[in-house]
Amino acid sequence: MNNNRFLKRINKDVENAINVQVIPINQITTTTIIEAETKETKTTVEINNNIKIIFGKDYPFTKFEVIYNDNPYYSFLKTTNPKIVNLLIKLKYGCLCCTTMFCDWRLTHTINDFLAELKLFKRIKTEIKYIIMINNLQKKYEKIPMQLILEYLLL
Ligand SMILES: [Zn+2]
Repeated sequence: MNNNRFLKRINKDVENAINVQVIPINQITTTTIIEAETKETKTTVEINNNIKIIFGKDYPFTKFEVIYNDNPYYSFLKTTNPKIVNLLIKLKYGCLCCTTMFCDWRLTHTINDFLAELKLFKRIKTEIKYIIMINNLQKKYEKIPMQLILEYLLL
């Protein structure tokens, strides 16, 4: 694909992300660099200072890369804690690193699809954190009724 079509597609993606705002966007910047050695064009779209989306020149035929909070997105998805893994299965979410859109890449996938996935996965992780926290409190304060614990947590 030539550079113009590549950039057009990315610009459309960015425009949609700004318009639809799956997650609130307060800052979005785009940088395009051409690596001299390989002539590879890479465009980085930075959202809210903590999400970097890197498009290679074959996008959308190859997936974009994501750096989230300075780490590869994969490390946000991956968990080895058996408590969390079991809860993910029990709640029927399955393994996040296996259900991500990057495992089943499609040409139609856009920044917005990624932002929607991130929003969902963050919600799932928060839900799991609460469940683990409540379980720990229940164990520690066996005699306190569950309702009081939930009220204390404002749930
Ligand atoms: Zn997995």
